[in-house]
This record gives sequence, C-alpha cells and structure tokens, in this order.
Amino acid sequence: MKTTRKLSLLPPYLFAELERAKAEVMKQGKEVIDLGVGDPDLPPPSGLLEALKKALENPEYHCYPPYNGTAEFRRAVADYYRETFGVKLDPEKEILGLIGSKEGIAHLPFALLDEGDLVLVTDPGYPPYSSSVIMAGGKLQPVALKEENRFLPDLQAIPEEICQKAALFFLNYPNNPTGQAADLEFLTELVGWAKKHDIILAYDNAYADIVLEGKPLSILQVEGAKEIAIEFMSLSKPFNITGWRLAFAAGNPEILEALLKFKKIVDSGAFCALQEAGVYALTREKSFPEQMREIYRKRKAILVEDLTPLGWEFYPTNATFYLWGKVPRGRKSFEYCREVLLKTGVLITPGIGFGAEGEGYFRISLTCPDKDLQKAVAKIKENM
Ligand SMILES: *Cc1c(COP(=O)(O)O)cnc(C)c1O
Repeated sequence: MKTTRKLSLLPPYLFAELERAKAEVMKQGKEVIDLGVGDPDLPPPSGLLEALKKALENPEYHCYPPYNGTAEFRRAVADYYRETFGVKLDPEKEILGLIGSKEGIAHLPFALLDEGDLVLVTDPGYPPYSSSVIMAGGKLQPVALKEENRFLPDLQAIPEEICQKAALFFLNYPNNPTGQAADLEFLTELVGWAKKHDIILAYDNAYADIVLEGKPLSILQVEGAKEIAIEFMSLSKPFNITGWRLAFAAGNPEILEALLKFKKIVDSGAFCALQEAGVYALTREKSFPEQMREIYRKRKAILVEDLTPLGWEFYPTNATFYLWGKVPRGRKSFEYCREVLLKTGVLITPGIGFGAEGEGYFRISLTCPDKDLQKAVAKIKENM
C-alpha cells in the first residue's frame, strides 16, 4: 500500500518497539513489570468522578461542544493561572481548550509551518514534537540537552544562522524524560532570546503540577512572554486522568487562533461533560496534586535508595514522576534496557528513544503501584 513519504520518515514509535520485547518475555511465561510509560496508576479524586457523573446528566452536554472550549472551562483556567502563577489571561482570546495536550502539540506545526521551515526541538525530547514537524513538512534542528547544563538548552551555543532561520521551538519543563525543572532565570533568558530571533515558543508544561522541590512555574510569568509563546498544559498527569483527554493551551492570541483554525477541520472540542468536570478539578481539587507529589517523592526516594547500592546511578531530578538513570559505561541504552527486561521482566525506557542525546541514559516511570516497584527492585537484585 502506498502511504505518504513523510510517514516513512517517522521513527518507529519507541514504546511500540518495547512492546514487542515485552510480548516476547510474556510468551516465556515471565511476569513483566512495566516502568516504561508515564501513565498514573492511582485513581482520580473521587469528587472528580462524581462531578463527571453529574455532568453526564445535563442534556445539553451531548451536542457538539464549542470549538475553543466552554466559557466555564476557560474561565476556570484563567482563575487557576491567576492564583497559581499570578498571570492574567483573557479567557476569550488567550486560552484554548484541547483534547489532550498531545492533540495541540501535534496540530500546531500544521497551523504555523510552511514546507521546509526550520523547527528547533530538544534532544532528548518528547517524541510527538519531531513527528508532527515531519508530518507538517518542517525541517528539524535538534537542540542538545546536556547533563553538565542541568539538561537545559544552551541557547548561546545555538549558531546565529540557525537562530535566524528557526520559526518555532518545542521544549518542555518540568522535563520529560530527565525530570529536571526549569527556573525563572532560564525562562527569562529563553523569552528574551526567542524575541530577539523572532522564534515562536511552544512551551509544553504538562508537568507543571509535578514539581517535587520548589514552586510550579509558567513561562507566561515572564514579562512579554505572551508576545512570542504559547504554553500547553494538561489535566492528564496531575489528576490521574490521562484517558479523559482534557487540556488547554494559553498565551499568544494569534498563535492560538491559528491553531484553532486548523483544529476546526480535525475535531469539535472536548466533550462538555469532561470540561465541566475539568472546572471541578481546577477549582475544587487544588490540594490533590500535592497528595500525588508526596507519593512520587516517596517512590523516587525508595527506588534511588534501593538501586544505588546495586551500582545504578541516577541524575538527581527535582520534578516529574520519572527517574533518569545512567546506563553502565560502554553499554548502549536500547541493548541495556532489553537485557534488563529479558533478565528481570522489568521494563524501563532506553534514552535513545528520546533522541541521540538520550544515549547513555534510561528512564524509569514511577507510575506503578508501590508493591510492583518493590517487586521490580527485588527482581533486579536477584537477576542483574
Ligand atoms: C504526557 C505528556 C503530554 C501529553 O499529555 P496529554 O495527556 O496529551 O495532555 C505532553 N507532553 C509531555 C512532555 C508529556 O509527557
């Protein structure tokens, strides 16, 4: 069958390749403990489930939703930004509802790019950034995230010629996969640099609420950020509702309008009942993310404490529910993770799946019940 050439340029989706190795282990009758995908294991707050059930009974909610999100949802987002970040947003023009932030991320390049336009993406990076740029006909320029620079991009090291050409920059902090959070100093430098070179910032803040040390940050806190940036935020991770598909983008009104124009040919907005439940989450469940953070802090501490004596080495992360570990010297990340999986049944993600700069590292997701994490440690102790 003929498919578009661009589709053949996409890397095999990392998790798909690991799924195959996982199936192999399961076929041998071994148990697999999946610490690969970042998908919260714990239930959403019970009040949120009740809010969704109640919303289902509203007969008006079963029709097409407003394209840009319900007015109530956008107002709740604006209130959340004011209280959390001290940022004022116009719910009419500066907030756009999304069907999960991945949806917005994947569609943005189609709204902004012409064939051959240059886009900066971090390496390592969240795979949908580069895949959507490829599909939209853009050209990729990886920006290395190095450990010696706390996995923040070294903006001054990006050649002037590249800065001149680049149209867009995708990046995300708190960072998946490294677990590093940004600070306001870096965000301020980033906004100044992007304005100087007229580069649109697509700042993915999916883990804003999973900062384990210090305060959550929004790029929109930086003065003038709205001239050049939009920020993606999601209810998926902080409220344990990845399957619901509810998120939003906030920031520059022209960029949001362009994204909306493209979205209108693809979807018709998130189900209204979900958006009403989202209002409940943002306004009535403000303390829930802290309960989750406490659980992730404990899981991180336990795993690091148990695995370090076995020679496993971790980057000291301060955010997200991931651990970023170092592959033993001289080994390749995919081959090493495959060996761990085959010997122990524990699935961890090779850093190479996030880009060439991820080589030498692996990612462990802590979105797994405590007893399974303990079991994983025991299997590693026994078999590695
Ligand atoms: C999980 C994740 C998302 C996507 O979240 P949605 O469920 O689509 O809102 C976006 N960016 C990063 C970096 C993620 O890890």
